Amino acid sequence: AKVLLTGGSGFIAAHVLELLLKRGYQVVTTVRSEGKAAKIREAHPGAKLTVVIVPDIAKPGAFDEVMQTPDLEYVQHTASPFHYNWSDAKTELLDPAIQGTLSVLQAVKKHAPSVKRVVVTSSFASILSAEGLADPNKTFSEADWNPLDYEDGLKGDKATAYRVSKKCAEKAAWDFVEAERPGFDVATICPPLVFGPVVHHLNSLSAVNTSNQRFVALIQGGWASEIAPSGVFLWVDVRDVALAHVGAMETTEAGGKRFFTTAGYYSNRDIADVVRRNFPDLGPKLPGEEVPGGGYPESGLYKYDNSRATKMLGIDWIPLEKSVVDTVKSLRAVGA
Ligand code: NDP
Repeated sequence: AKVLLTGGSGFIAAHVLELLLKRGYQVVTTVRSEGKAAKIREAHPGAKLTVVIVPDIAKPGAFDEVMQTPDLEYVQHTASPFHYNWSDAKTELLDPAIQGTLSVLQAVKKHAPSVKRVVVTSSFASILSAEGLADPNKTFSEADWNPLDYEDGLKGDKATAYRVSKKCAEKAAWDFVEAERPGFDVATICPPLVFGPVVHHLNSLSAVNTSNQRFVALIQGGWASEIAPSGVFLWVDVRDVALAHVGAMETTEAGGKRFFTTAGYYSNRDIADVVRRNFPDLGPKLPGEEVPGGGYPESGLYKYDNSRATKMLGIDWIPLEKSVVDTVKSLRAVGA
């Protein structure tokens, strides 16, 4: 069967691509530039793989041409900005996220009647709420929606704007299906922070994807006198995220569902402990046990319910220790 994968140059997408090829799918993937296309082709010699350039996913009709590829059965839409080096929230973040998703869905409806399912990479960002994150009695699940709306994305805070981009993009996908009743269904994958080995091409370590930046900081000595604050305290390994994307595509009853894909809790302090135990040669660059910071809140943590992804997609979550060790090994191979 043939799958269209958007944003094949990304951290998560590169793992989805590997898994699709391993399972025998023919893949058409889109990237923004010829340079990135060449790197993907080089990484998969002889694969049943076509790389196509879609320069601007926010443009109406952006996917009209590639969606005319004959016999597409599935679409995996992962391309969306996840970084904070933008200056205009609307054009550089919200438009590519929201319009990009709509362009994909509209093009499928218009040009690809053979497509049965579109899997969209959403995020825990579209589930969480500030109140819930502060409430040890809260259990987050697929039933929750981030209460932020589009306007909140224009108020200047970059982390908030990213969360809005993911929430509004996922919401736009569900609204599209509801309003248009197309001949395909949608499933969404909602991971919290994704860690794990890098398999996509990196020009340099400074180009590492956002959720793996903390590992570069740690092994280069950035936490030696104080461990950075952790963030949301929920994580998942990128290989499990890839399994979720492909599982949500292959599992009939996954249609119409969101999947909250998390392996559980982490803290930056846990990460530092794992790295200290497993990479003693990094010695003085790493924080010693006495170094402060990066721990869990004393008031306790919100809960999570990942049972739908565990059961329906059959995921046996990779533990933090393995994920951290594999991540650090892969980054050191790039030069950290
Ligand atoms: P990456 O930055 O590695 O990948 C992002 C992908 O989206 C790249 O292929 C990138 O292309 C593409 N992209 C970004 N901006 C644009 C744009 N304006 N136009 C076209 N393409 C664009 O990050 P991830 O792999 O982590 O992210 C993939 C998806 O996963 C995103 O939807 C993200 O929101 C989501 N996600 C990630 C989490 C994480 O912790 N990593 C957690 C939850 C969700 P290019 O290579 O050209 O920049």
